[in-house]
Amino acid sequence: MFKPTVRVKTEGDVKVHKRGAPSSRYPYRLNFYDKPPTLDITLDEFETAALTRLRVLTYLEALQQRSLPSAQLSSTLAAYLKQHLPLSANTARTADLETERRLDAIGHWVLRLSFSRSPELRARFVRAETALFKHRFETDDAAERSVFLHALDLSWAVVSDAERTRYWPQLRDTMWWAKESALATETWFKVPWASVPDLVAQRRVFVRAGQAFVPQSMQISLVLQAFSARLEAALELTAKNLPRLDEDERLAPVIDHLAASFLSGLAGAEYTPSDSAALVTAEMVDDGIGLPLDEALIFWRRMFATTSDDKFNKEYRYNIRHSYGQEGRRANYPPRSCQQILTTHQPGTGDSHGCPFRHFSVDNLTTFLVSNYRIERSSPEMKDILDSVKGSAYHVACTRLFEATRGVKKGEGLGGGESVTHPNKFTARSIEIEAERVEGLRME
Ligand code: SF4
Repeated sequence: MFKPTVRVKTEGDVKVHKRGAPSSRYPYRLNFYDKPPTLDITLDEFETAALTRLRVLTYLEALQQRSLPSAQLSSTLAAYLKQHLPLSANTARTADLETERRLDAIGHWVLRLSFSRSPELRARFVRAETALFKHRFETDDAAERSVFLHALDLSWAVVSDAERTRYWPQLRDTMWWAKESALATETWFKVPWASVPDLVAQRRVFVRAGQAFVPQSMQISLVLQAFSARLEAALELTAKNLPRLDEDERLAPVIDHLAASFLSGLAGAEYTPSDSAALVTAEMVDDGIGLPLDEALIFWRRMFATTSDDKFNKEYRYNIRHSYGQEGRRANYPPRSCQQILTTHQPGTGDSHGCPFRHFSVDNLTTFLVSNYRIERSSPEMKDILDSVKGSAYHVACTRLFEATRGVKKGEGLGGGESVTHPNKFTARSIEIEAERVEGLRME
């Protein structure tokens, strides 16, 4: 099991690696994560690397749940990775390969600790990591990929010339679309058929005596199967050793928090109000967000219209002022993210908070969307939203509602494919879109 050595690092500890050169520790861009990092890692780096990777995995999951065309998914993910977790090829001489690959590897190994705790977490982690690996594999430099595969030594048995000749009609039938010239240079590997269930189900391989004959051009299925099988086995091994890690008081809370974030489908989002937040008044909102204190008091007084002044002042005014840092210990609490709303303080009977996608019944949610957002019951948008809710992808449902009601193309989300992770981001982007629309009308 990966046993991180976490210590405070001083400046003198930092080894300077030559920018642009692959190190012996990370010779390839692709990584099967077979060897745990034997490094000193600061607690800060431990947490940062894990959170960065967690955001990438949850982003990837959200993209998959939104059923985007594969080309759009790939380009959106590539743009996100470039910004948040770049991983350059050896040929990219200006990138700091050592730093990129170190962050990638540490993030992976820390998340292994978090996500080995239950079968559900393990399965989701393997799926998400395999999808990330697949994206990188498909976008890798062909020559580097080939060297990487060779180094893995996956021990696939190559189909001999004699077998190739004997089963030629069957092999040719499974590749009926290929040109004769491509077939002539094709190589097949023999692997247990259960290791490539996707190819067997699609009848894309010839199976004989329990062995599937997989053409090299479909190698990716074999590689992904090997990647996920190794990761699954490693996670089970890690799970057995977890109790030892729970003794570490510094790491256990971080690891628990990461697992909770992953289960909610969100990796935590912070919101820093922009200037536009100050423009919101109680008059402008019919469903309350981002108001300054005075406007919030007006808004909530209206919302509790049937409550007496005395009761409102005693039971609610103080709490509203408290949350704005005007009472008690005067902490100005940041607005809650989707993750916090989805996973903490579940609403009880008579409570008015929560997330409609998570806390309403399907019937109530449908009625709510029809009456408040004019989403037709039988529309594709309603279907997308309810499908996401059934799959517990609440923020994906919310993102689809945003797209449907803000005139945004499906898949674009808040911009560039970003999902809703914070109610205030939903609102801030809505205000921006409205301002752009008004500006457009003014210019006409
Ligand atoms: S912004 Fe959307 S997903 Fe987030 S809590 Fe609010 S309704 Fe739920």
